Amino acid sequence: MIEKIVAPFYEGLEHHKILARKCKECGAIEFPPRYACNACGYHETEWVELSGKGKLTTMITPATLNSDPWNAKIGPYCYGIVELEEGVRINSTVFGVTKKKAKTLRNQLPLPVHAIFAERDGYTTLFFQIDEDVLA
Ligand SMILES: [Zn+2]
Repeated sequence: MIEKIVAPFYEGLEHHKILARKCKECGAIEFPPRYACNACGYHETEWVELSGKGKLTTMITPATLNSDPWNAKIGPYCYGIVELEEGVRINSTVFGVTKKKAKTLRNQLPLPVHAIFAERDGYTTLFFQIDEDVLA
């Protein structure tokens, strides 16, 4: 059952689409996707595509213990909570944050971000990136 619901989600990511389940009763969005609604308990949800646009609300810069060499290959990054337009909150790796700029950027939170996709360990994985005009 778990695999059944997660499969379309990963297939979506391959096509750079973020899929979630929307409750037919109250409209709450479940991400990562689940069959039942956590908000109202209703059993029927349907696939919706998320815009991938949102804002970064917290920022943790990587230190030795939680740094990830794979991320560093893509670019400077931080960890944080991304709140999508649809109201979904995701713990994510967010690119575009250099150590040098982290302090300034932290004072500007929340910052606009958008989804990016990268191949990792054979799977298309969802990440976020700070909007370019903020960094300019
Ligand atoms: Zn609901």
